[in-house]
Amino acid sequence: MILLDGKATALSIQNDLRLKIASSLANGFRPPGLVAVLVGEDPASHAYVRNKALACKNVGIYTEVQHEPGSIPEGQLIEIVQQHCERPEIDGIIVQLPLPKSIDPDNILNAILPTKDVDGFTVTNSGKLMLGMPTLAPATPLGIVRLLQHYQIATDGKHVVVVGRSRTVGTPVALILSQNSLYANATVTLCHSHTVDLRHYTQSADILIVAAGKHHLIAAADVKAGTVVIDVGIHAVSDSSKKMGFRYEGDVNFAEVAPLCSHITPVPGGVGPMTIAMLLSNTVDSYQHSLKQS
Ligand code: NAP
Repeated sequence: MILLDGKATALSIQNDLRLKIASSLANGFRPPGLVAVLVGEDPASHAYVRNKALACKNVGIYTEVQHEPGSIPEGQLIEIVQQHCERPEIDGIIVQLPLPKSIDPDNILNAILPTKDVDGFTVTNSGKLMLGMPTLAPATPLGIVRLLQHYQIATDGKHVVVVGRSRTVGTPVALILSQNSLYANATVTLCHSHTVDLRHYTQSADILIVAAGKHHLIAAADVKAGTVVIDVGIHAVSDSSKKMGFRYEGDVNFAEVAPLCSHITPVPGGVGPMTIAMLLSNTVDSYQHSLKQS
């Protein structure tokens, strides 16, 4: 069994990005810029934004975090997003989800200019992704594909089973891997909570991508020998032996499933770091596009 080390792969991507940015600065250009909009006081959202901002800083992306109270009216939040879109020195704008229930996330996300939508969540970029056009795609699916590429795991002609059809992970990764493009061409089955006999599908997967948000949904009996397993799920499980009082586990029962696999991602240290690396990569792509236009 080979561990798909997302942490090391993400670090090497970040090193490449750091060199690209340094070379651009040496040629007299401005640094890339990212604004993260954070609404409310959800501790997990604050931690995610902190980690993203730190990773940006480490590669040389200028970053601002705009924190607004959970009571902010939807219209005011749209105005804030639109104002950041007009700033020439800002290449990427992200809005940390979830938003308070009083705000429709679609209205906020679609206020982002598609060329600065480095999370790839706007209707325009989702549509382009569906049509196989070049676009800014969501970071987690991109991170999964990049990890498969890094470990030279072929997808052409393989049966990929995706568990979970969210807009941010399951649906876009299924789309990307089923497209007629160099590193795709898989036959993809997209499963969800209405799938009857999930095991029937997971057992036939060459590559199994699990993004259901259900702790230890996938056990040894769900997987055939030699499968490549990508575990997107992340759950804090209480553990008094840890300083923090918890540890992270995934949607896959790693201890049971890992011995059967050809490759598997750990949790933590698998898909998570790749997601951040691809957000940075999208920001640098958007930056380079903007420099070419100016
Ligand atoms: P989500 O929006 O809650 O979607 C979950 C999907 O799983 C839904 O499509 C749901 O089906 C399906 N599902 C739920 N229970 C199922 C079951 N028993 N059998 C089959 N399908 C089932 O979740 P998400 O945002 O995609 O995230 C999934 C997990 O990945 C979460 O643990 C999240 O924290 C984690 N995540 C990690 C990263 C990272 O960077 N590591 C990034 C994003 C998300 P229905 O559509 O029928 O409801």
